[in-house]
Amino acid sequence: MNYRHAYHAGNFADVVKHLALVALLSHLKKKDKGFRVIDTHAGRGLYDLAGDEAARTGEAAQGIARLRALIPHDGYPESLKTYLDLVQSAGEGRYPGSPLIAARLLRPQDRLIAIEKHAEEFAVLSSVLSPYRTATAEQADGYARLAALLPPPERRGLVLIDPPYEAPDEFARVGAAVGGALRRFATGIYLIWFPVKSKSEVDRFCGEIVAAGAAKALRIDTEVEAKANIKEKIGDKERLARAGIIVVNPPYGFADEMNTAFSIVATPLAARTELAWLAGES
Ligand code: SAM
Repeated sequence: MNYRHAYHAGNFADVVKHLALVALLSHLKKKDKGFRVIDTHAGRGLYDLAGDEAARTGEAAQGIARLRALIPHDGYPESLKTYLDLVQSAGEGRYPGSPLIAARLLRPQDRLIAIEKHAEEFAVLSSVLSPYRTATAEQADGYARLAALLPPPERRGLVLIDPPYEAPDEFARVGAAVGGALRRFATGIYLIWFPVKSKSEVDRFCGEIVAAGAAKALRIDTEVEAKANIKEKIGDKERLARAGIIVVNPPYGFADEMNTAFSIVATPLAARTELAWLAGES
């Protein structure tokens, strides 16, 4: 295993993904009926921004750290206020990952299954989630477990698919996983993260998600410090400058909520965001 999210936690891509996660969870909480969250690639749940990994890339410094000066007020969309509160309550120099964000927002009738394959990450994840009775951490392959866990007994839910994209076939695996998942649970909400290293590869991937049966799908791309070259060299590492999410079955009002939130965070992040309907609405 090479990928460690600790190098990237709290970067611009995490901010966008986690803002979307908070907005989708808030929507699901509008009804009393419980729902299930399945986080197929959960990571460790809590990151130390003062640690070596974060310091080596400086990604959090150019991401979440730039939002510290924002003071949430009534003019902010609820999702942005909630996200900023969650980050602040994780503690000074710490950043909450997707499973901790979900665990913090669930009600007693809701459930979270957070899946992480790698032992070291899983050990931390288990301890981070241990205070939350509604959350379960599993050490397993997220794709295999997703197929087994759908449809959820509640018939309401959100699936977050956020792999490291280290393997050359990761886009294909995500496409296949979403296809299988939609056949089992067509009404679920899916939040899928992806890096943009090759525009044609990502466009093809988005086409596959629609072809897999997504009747309604929104794509949101974010680019930081727009450059002709999409990658920037940091030592021997390449820093990602463009990333995206696809939301399948986004709830009504989600695109507007995201637009408003991005209009507030775009300037401090020096980011540009583009929303496009891949299927439905527009
Ligand atoms: N979702 C997390 C968040 O937003 O805080 C970040 C996840 S990180 C991008 C991807 C994680 O997937 C890594 O912790 C990696 O160890 C884990 N992973 C890699 N392959 C996996 C697999 N097949 N099943 C489950 N987890 C996997």
